[in-house]
Amino acid sequence: MATIIDGKALAAKVRERAAAEVAELGGRGISCGLAVVLVGDDQASATYVRSKLRDCEQCGIRSFDYKLPAETSQEELMELIGRLNADEDVTGILVQMPLPAHLDTEQVVAAIDPNKDVDGFHPMNMGRLVRGLEGLRPCTPAGIMEMLDEYGIDPAGKNAVIVGRSSIVGKPMAFMLLARNATISVAHSRTDPHELARICQSADILVAACGVPKMIKGPWVKPGATVIDVGMDRDEAGKLCGDVDFDSAELVAGAITPVPGGVGPMTRAMLMSNVVLAARLQHGL
Ligand code: NAP
Repeated sequence: MATIIDGKALAAKVRERAAAEVAELGGRGISCGLAVVLVGDDQASATYVRSKLRDCEQCGIRSFDYKLPAETSQEELMELIGRLNADEDVTGILVQMPLPAHLDTEQVVAAIDPNKDVDGFHPMNMGRLVRGLEGLRPCTPAGIMEMLDEYGIDPAGKNAVIVGRSSIVGKPMAFMLLARNATISVAHSRTDPHELARICQSADILVAACGVPKMIKGPWVKPGATVIDVGMDRDEAGKLCGDVDFDSAELVAGAITPVPGGVGPMTRAMLMSNVVLAARLQHGL
């Protein structure tokens, strides 16, 4: 049976580390503050925002909560981001996604000061990642790298397969694993479905981030492989599940993340880490 990678326990450690760093920076007169902007009244987004604000409190990070009506215009949102960029008390800015359809997400992401971009989505930060430069990295893949390190799984020389190529998970994941000397394959919806199982079977590290419930089955997993399940899906019964069929995959994998309790808590915790890093970057530390 596979080792279960405990994202919840590691997330608690990451938050403790962030809290210690916040205190250390505070001692040097530098405070960390996160502005969270929520546009509209999507219930899931509101829940995510509440948990982010709670995490801030636990880590000693000041938070600034902006709830804007669904009909907020692009100009109003851009004006707020401009103000937050200029506000020295705000060292991190997070605009909760998805934005209502009438708003231009790319323009909003690009308007955030790259050194306050704690989601790591700004083109400058994506560019820094690709160029191998220091910068803020998207929380989900950054959390996965922490998990691999915690469990002594060194990507160097390994075959890593990532199923999914979104800008928030699949693509940055590929570049982070590449930076750690893994050999990368990225599969997506246009990958030949008859080839997908074989591609997955080549993976020493398999990252599932496609949003298709339980798509990756045990026989697709190479014996002893590390399986990271990013998916947050619902099965036929409406129960939370991942992109991996956990029951069959854990019989074959060497290590595997559960859903819930794997990647999700780490994504949340890495935001706190990024708020600290953003404050450091702004102070040249
Ligand atoms: P996304 O933007 O919808 O991207 C999904 C990716 O999977 C796309 O690249 C898509 O290919 C590919 N794909 C879809 N169906 C496929 C198939 N049958 N075979 C192979 N590839 C397929 O999703 P995302 O934002 O990256 O999220 C992926 C999953 O992770 C979702 O379940 C999401 O809820 C979850 N998630 C969890 C966390 C967390 O913290 N745990 C964070 C973020 C996301 P194309 O590019 O060709 O369309």
